[in-house]
Amino acid sequence: MNKTLNRRDFIKIMNATTTGVAIVASGITLTTFASVNEIPVTNKKRWGLLIDTNKLTETDIDGMVNACQQEQGWGTETHSTASQKPGWIKKLKVKDKATNKVSNLALMCQHCEEPPCVDVCPTNASMKREDGIVLVDKHLCIGCRYCMMACPYDARSFVHETLNNQKEHMPRGKGTVEACTMCVHKIDKGETPACVESVNSEAVIFGNLYDESSQINQTLKIIQSSQIRSDLNLNTGVRYSGI
Ligand code: SF4
Ligand code: SF4
Repeated sequence: MNKTLNRRDFIKIMNATTTGVAIVASGITLTTFASVNEIPVTNKKRWGLLIDTNKLTETDIDGMVNACQQEQGWGTETHSTASQKPGWIKKLKVKDKATNKVSNLALMCQHCEEPPCVDVCPTNASMKREDGIVLVDKHLCIGCRYCMMACPYDARSFVHETLNNQKEHMPRGKGTVEACTMCVHKIDKGETPACVESVNSEAVIFGNLYDESSQINQTLKIIQSSQIRSDLNLNTGVRYSGI
């Protein structure tokens, strides 16, 4: 495959300002996330997800996890122990103690407006884009894992082993941290995150929270929704209903 080296665009999009020290897996080159049909990254948008736990089945969540793995290339680690393996989306069950109602949750990076992972990062590898998507620049990440400790959602994973055959849009590297990118490489081309595409119902809605005409905005106006750990006031980009 002809891989395109486009470090300048990559750095521009990732808001990086200096070259980094972490080693990205050999053979992986840097590509821009938005080389075709680029959608401008602007603070006039805030990308988000709304997950309806009343509609979301366990099969749906399995499908979301599989779609994420296929799209981003994680989950094929062979040497990592079960607890070391990356998990960009987790399937959780939560039980209402009063009613015993059990809900299935898909939990991924919540793309917090006030992200603790960004606050604690000593190298600015953890960053929030203007449109609210929180990312890790693998070239700046030194693998200190402060961000993993700071994240209240256990959303980040550390790569423990050397990786091969990675996706062109998602360079991953041993000794760096990673998490859900909301499929930013697809969003920047006007597409929908892979996990959302995998669900055949309206159990997961993706869109611009600031756009009054978007389905996610209109739905959030008429239903009751919650943020996980809303007490932390992180103003998450991922919202849930039915819990
Ligand atoms: S969920 Fe965790 S990793 Fe994602 S933005 Fe919030 S603090 Fe950072
Ligand atoms: S491990 Fe997390 S906190 Fe440390 S440099 Fe990498 S992104 Fe920043």
